[in-house]
Amino acid sequence: MNLYNIKHPDQQVNFAQAVRQGLGKDQGLFFPATIPQLSNIDELLALPLVERSQKILRALIGDEIPADKLNAMVKNAFTFPAPVVKVAENIYALELFHGPTLAFKDFGGRFMAQALATVRGDGKITILTATSGDTGAAVAHAFYGLENIEVVILYPKGKISPLQEKLFCTLGGNIRTVAINADFDACQSLVKQAFDDEELRQAIGLNSANSINISRLLAQVCYYFEAAAQLNTEQRQNLVVSVPSGNFGNLTAGLIAKTLGLPIKRFIASTNANDTVPRYLQTGEWQPNATVATLSNAMDVSRPNNWPRVEELFKRNGWQLSELGSGALNDAETETALKAQYAQGYLCEPHGAIAYQVLKDQLQEGETGLFLCTAHPAKFKESVERILDIELPLPEALDKHNKLPLLSDEMDNDFATLRAYLLK
Ligand SMILES: *Cc1c(COP(=O)(O)O)cnc(C)c1O
Repeated sequence: MNLYNIKHPDQQVNFAQAVRQGLGKDQGLFFPATIPQLSNIDELLALPLVERSQKILRALIGDEIPADKLNAMVKNAFTFPAPVVKVAENIYALELFHGPTLAFKDFGGRFMAQALATVRGDGKITILTATSGDTGAAVAHAFYGLENIEVVILYPKGKISPLQEKLFCTLGGNIRTVAINADFDACQSLVKQAFDDEELRQAIGLNSANSINISRLLAQVCYYFEAAAQLNTEQRQNLVVSVPSGNFGNLTAGLIAKTLGLPIKRFIASTNANDTVPRYLQTGEWQPNATVATLSNAMDVSRPNNWPRVEELFKRNGWQLSELGSGALNDAETETALKAQYAQGYLCEPHGAIAYQVLKDQLQEGETGLFLCTAHPAKFKESVERILDIELPLPEALDKHNKLPLLSDEMDNDFATLRAYLLK
């Protein structure tokens, strides 16, 4: 597989290099040089998730990774289903939250971990990351038990929910978690200092496994096919997909699926009050505001870092940005949407509620709508219980960890201490 840096197209790498490096020169994003058009879509849709995904990723990645290895990567990563559920007459939910951390990031995160373990080369690898909650859990679970990969996750002590903490600080093994006596920004700054320390970097093989890694996006392409596979031919004719968007990785993956030939009529980018993209699509002006905190906090992003990949795809495919639908909901509107879904018989959470409502508002006669549900309602327990005035039981996956003892180390906000800890 050939990829180039969107900022510096002369920088070209293969899949292994792109996975290991994450980002290119000047923080440029890697992007596939070519995306094939698949001629056997119907045959693919008839296959089960894992087998189909192996074929899709083979088509994208090529023979750089031997077939048996790629097949094992997919099988180890995709260990949970992504069911389509009917919500209204012509509206369906794609539930992406049945993985170990109950969020769609399990798909990309688990495949990235498998990819990194496969293309790592020799030497030690240490994944170092700071988290304010969710990403830490996804990273910890994705890398848990992988050989010769150490994971160290920093988080602000006392500043994440106890439930979130239990989800990723109870694993042990190759996952070390460190509660820092400071805030999230301090944790991020410690991570940055570590990456700036060339000697440390070499000594422990530092890698960020960050959200911009191309392997995540390629994995996410597969669940758009899984959605289509669960709809009938007629429903697939005029399919409109609404994607709750923050950094726009999820939407990029959908657009790659369409480029491969999956019949999706159009996409809708749905955001919360951090609406840089919807405003840009309306006015043609890119004017990010200061980021505001919302109920759908995983989408509190005003400078979406995958947006250059979206524009690159539109340009290369000769699509017009005017064909991309969009809409934004504020928190009050999100609450109303969540209640409307619940009245309809579907329990959702704020991110999925936004995608649902924007879709419902824009769906036209004769179209079938699909919206992506990116997190389990229990992940946003407090908001969902308050808005709907209900009590949510803890799902099994969370309950299991909730009963285990915390294994975190505690540390002051001091780089020398962290450095010694990492080298130990
Ligand atoms: C990360 C996340 C999103 C946003 O996805 P992007 O790929 O960043 O656009 C939406 N919902 C949830 C629950 C998330 O965790």
